[in-house]
Amino acid sequence: MATEERTFWDPDVEGLAYEAWQTYQDRLVREAVAFAYDHTQEVFRRMQRAGVTPEDVQGVRDLPQIPVLAKDSLPDLQAQHPPFGGMVSVAVHQLRRVFMSPGPIFEPEGNRPDYWRWAPALWAAGFRPGDVVHNTFAYHLTPAGAMMEEGLRAIGCVVVPGGVGNTEWQVTLMAQVQATGYVGTPSFLLTLLERGREKGLSLAVRRAFVTGAPLPPSLRRVLQDTYQIDVYQGYGTADVGNIAYECEAKAGWHIAPGVVVEIVNPATGQPVPHGEPGEVVITRPDAVYPLVRFGTGDLSALDVAPCSCGRGTPRLVGFLGRVGEGVKVRGMFVHPRQLAQALGDRPEIHRYQGVVTRVGHRDELTIRVEPSPNADIDPLRLAETLREVLKLRVTVEVVPRNTLPEDAPPLVDERTWE
Ligand SMILES: [Zn+2]
Repeated sequence: MATEERTFWDPDVEGLAYEAWQTYQDRLVREAVAFAYDHTQEVFRRMQRAGVTPEDVQGVRDLPQIPVLAKDSLPDLQAQHPPFGGMVSVAVHQLRRVFMSPGPIFEPEGNRPDYWRWAPALWAAGFRPGDVVHNTFAYHLTPAGAMMEEGLRAIGCVVVPGGVGNTEWQVTLMAQVQATGYVGTPSFLLTLLERGREKGLSLAVRRAFVTGAPLPPSLRRVLQDTYQIDVYQGYGTADVGNIAYECEAKAGWHIAPGVVVEIVNPATGQPVPHGEPGEVVITRPDAVYPLVRFGTGDLSALDVAPCSCGRGTPRLVGFLGRVGEGVKVRGMFVHPRQLAQALGDRPEIHRYQGVVTRVGHRDELTIRVEPSPNADIDPLRLAETLREVLKLRVTVEVVPRNTLPEDAPPLVDERTWE
């Protein structure tokens, strides 16, 4: 019997045009809210307290009636109602695995293949059946190792469960099995490659899926240009699994099938306009661990412009930091990572520092930049670029070399409020 080759590109979700995708998102919201209200105590109680019924929530636009549940509240909630805080809809004996992340926060794995839905992300990164993939995420206690393994196995990849640490052994093993794929953090990949070079080993890695740590453009270039590795990023959490991932355009992270992402003002829980930074809040239907307005504490922004890859799903612009790291300037949050994204990889800039001051009753954000040797910086042009990234008018001040100390914090708040 001929079998069709299975793919993990889902034309009925990833191929939808933006409007049709919004209709799909509304359906996910209705499913998640109705199921979680009926099957989990936590969502039932949270909606009762807010005076909201499932009938009140017909789509994404109705979600803000329900307060956000902060991920930071899970350790207390789970301690009160062990093990999962009243958020899981099945008995423990019906699960496949139980994990514990720092917090502690306990996470369930439902009893089905690729429970966290990473296969579409790994497929988009080019992983195919028969690829030998070295997985360097932890296999103990925390779910990252198992998450990636499940996704790779769903595709049909051969997985080498490397886990963390043991650089010497890992790089030898990678060479011996001629692994063509890598999954892990980008910095550990570089460590392994450098060690392989030192030892004169012939490594075969040509494709990497990285998550869990920043991938600065400079590091991506080294991996691509020096080591000829095609690198893709994914974004997810231990609770949710796959939230978003890069396509071949590598210009933002497409929202994954099966999840609804809101970007909200962390102080109010209200959605911010597209393009503005805010907290990533997840709603997703799931027969085991349904989530309704789950506040990840991560900051990003949403880009709804069409992507050249043909996916109609909007993209997250990247990881902009954690809630609490930001500084509010004229009502807009500015985060150190936004500055790093805009400035950190420009060869003409040696150092920079954002300074928030108050002039009269108005917040001012000044970016001090030190040029690299023999480099010229056009302050007006740079201010225009920053304005696009930060959605805020800023002043750029070019300062002489060695004005800013080497350990200058990237963003300081010099406002006084007396
Ligand atoms: Zn794309």
